[in-house]
Amino acid sequence: MTGSLVVVGTGPGRAELMTPASAAAVARATDLVGYGPYLDRIPSTRPDQCRHASDNRVELDRARHALALAAAGRHVAVVSGGDPGVFAMAAAVFEAVEAGDPLWRTLDIRVEPGVTAMLAAAAEVGAPLGGDFCAISLSDNLKAWATIERRLSAAAEADFVIALYNPASKARPHQLGDALALLRSKKKAETPVLFVRAAGTTDTKVVATTLGAADASVADMRTLVIIGASTTRQVGRWIYTPRGERGAS
Ligand code: SAH
Repeated sequence: MTGSLVVVGTGPGRAELMTPASAAAVARATDLVGYGPYLDRIPSTRPDQCRHASDNRVELDRARHALALAAAGRHVAVVSGGDPGVFAMAAAVFEAVEAGDPLWRTLDIRVEPGVTAMLAAAAEVGAPLGGDFCAISLSDNLKAWATIERRLSAAAEADFVIALYNPASKARPHQLGDALALLRSKKKAETPVLFVRAAGTTDTKVVATTLGAADASVADMRTLVIIGASTTRQVGRWIYTPRGERGAS
């Protein structure tokens, strides 16, 4: 087997936020595999490169297709949004390797790091992830809603800043409202809440509010929601979380 597979992320949307290493890996590939809109972020520079665009809901099929191409000797780049390891294709590739042809374990597979949405979103508003934080996907396509509730409660009790990925979609309109209601029962109403849509692009929109006032309908599938810790606060026009506990130096 002389093929290879690299999993890359495009970053949050603006070309400069895709790393040079990811762009170079894409330029070397004979085949690009990914969700159509992510592939569209990559300018076509090589007429000999095949693009295999797919729908967003078939990640495992897409991973298997990419592995089969690599096993057949192609040099494949699997393209995700953001960072490919955060709620994205890199894990889908390893799930497919684990369940698939044992020979896939001997393939040359690499993952390139990328700029994930929560980092781009945090940078839009200041430094809300400056203390300890966690990331939770609100999508219950692959896990039970009870698991998500347990993790939200634990994160609130541990006073983490919480980055919420996949806060809403047409198929899941109620979940962010339910998550905010749960968090309101555990955290102060004045806790800062940030809705950052299309972070790191020229269409970025930020809504800065509080847990008491947050309206879940502001979020869509291009929004990252950040819920502050007890120390998260405003200074001038920025929101930040200090690195240490209040009073500690
Ligand atoms: N691998 C991606 C995340 C995939 S999950 C990454 O590392 O960023 C998809 C979710 O990511 C979206 O529902 C949204 O919550 C978030 N997201 C992706 N791009 C975003 C952007 N530019 N601005 C805000 N949120 C974004």
